[in-house]
Amino acid sequence: MVLNNCTGCGICWTICPKGVLVGKLKDKAMVVSEGQCMGCFSCQYNCPYNAIIVQVKVAEGRQ
Ligand code: SF4
Ligand code: SF4
Repeated sequence: MVLNNCTGCGICWTICPKGVLVGKLKDKAMVVSEGQCMGCFSCQYNCPYNAIIVQVKVAEGRQ
């Protein structure tokens, strides 16, 4: 999820290897294809403003 302090710097959607993120909504990052996210955390680690948080979902039926 993208927090309100996102500045739209573009780092996250530039580095995301899966094209999950784009910048559109009021010049902030936006998650467009959450299902494609492979949980690499590159966006979260590289955001200079700590404005994006990767939430890894546990698949149903697994622990
Ligand atoms: S790297 Fe952070 S501040 Fe920059 S666009 Fe992505 S979420 Fe926003
Ligand atoms: S954690 Fe997901 S959204 Fe973030 S860079 Fe990796 S694939 Fe893209």
